[in-house]
Amino acid sequence: MRPMPEFRRPPPDPLEKATAERILSIRRWSEKLFSVRVSRSPAFRFTPGQWVRLGMPSGSGLPGSVIWRPYSMVSADYDEYLEFFSILVPGGAFSSRLAAADIGDMLYVEKLPYGYLTAARFTGGRHLWLLGSGTGVAPYLSILRDPDVWQRYDERVLAYSVSQARDLAYRDELAALADDPLLGTDRPPLRFVAIVTRETVPGTLQARLPALIADGSLEQAAGLDLTPEDSRILVCGNPQMLDDVRDALLARGLRPDRSAAPGHFATENYW
Ligand SMILES: Cc1cc2nc3c(=O)[nH]c(=O)nc-3n(C[C@H](O)[C@H](O)[C@H](O)COP(=O)(O)OP(=O)(O)OC[C@H]3O[C@@H](n4cnc5c(N)ncnc54)[C@H](O)[C@@H]3O)c2cc1C
Repeated sequence: MRPMPEFRRPPPDPLEKATAERILSIRRWSEKLFSVRVSRSPAFRFTPGQWVRLGMPSGSGLPGSVIWRPYSMVSADYDEYLEFFSILVPGGAFSSRLAAADIGDMLYVEKLPYGYLTAARFTGGRHLWLLGSGTGVAPYLSILRDPDVWQRYDERVLAYSVSQARDLAYRDELAALADDPLLGTDRPPLRFVAIVTRETVPGTLQARLPALIADGSLEQAAGLDLTPEDSRILVCGNPQMLDDVRDALLARGLRPDRSAAPGHFATENYW
């Protein structure tokens, strides 16, 4: 019997599940952090806090071969564009391609967003705590521009942890929330806690988030207590930080929020 000829199924057409968007602008925060703004299909809808898979041609020479990675939306759900905040992982298959992209280049954006790191998921609570490390701040920038978040909660805390001060991106945008008329007037400002772990910077805390929760420094800096009655907490970033924050919150009597058992915190792991 003659051997069967080798048959390689061509990769699926990316446009079956994604739209082809164009890069509108690029902002470089440091040598390893950057943001890209891309065109947005009018049909693309999301809830602030969600993520979507982005795709770039793999360059393998195989037609239609695309590398996909999940990214949180930074932009508000009412912006006409989509914005993403990215790390450059040295040698990273996707992020090194994205970092090398230029204005006008094409980026695939999947048609469906995913994720449950949203403020709307919680029942009860008066204070929304947003805890993020590194690019884990991305979903909070979208969440904090959602008028519902400013109506539904009495207070909002953003604890943003980076290793060096120059990595604290989006400071101007966070400051501008105070004057955003869309978010309503006569409301308390965002309680912003900047954390820089590897430098001593005046006005910032200098320890990892789990330690700051355990010793009460985070609450002191925010001017609010973490309690099961009042606090609803989102946590986003690297797996080790999430594990340790989870332990610190459990030790304070706070429970994970599940559909079967409403609780106080939810996490999103970036890798
Ligand atoms: C739900 C979800 C949402 C995400 N949203 C974002 C986002 O908004 N912005 C973003 O930059 N990344 C985000 N990521 C990570 C992103 O999908 C990629 O992993 C990242 O862009 C690196 O891709 P890569 O192919 O270059 O390297 P990969 O092969 O994917 O990752 C290689 C290694 O790089 C490290 N790494 C990956 N992502 C990060 C990161 N964000 N910060 C620091 N180190 C990292 C990890 O050690 C990982 O093992 C998200 C991941 C998930 C699961």
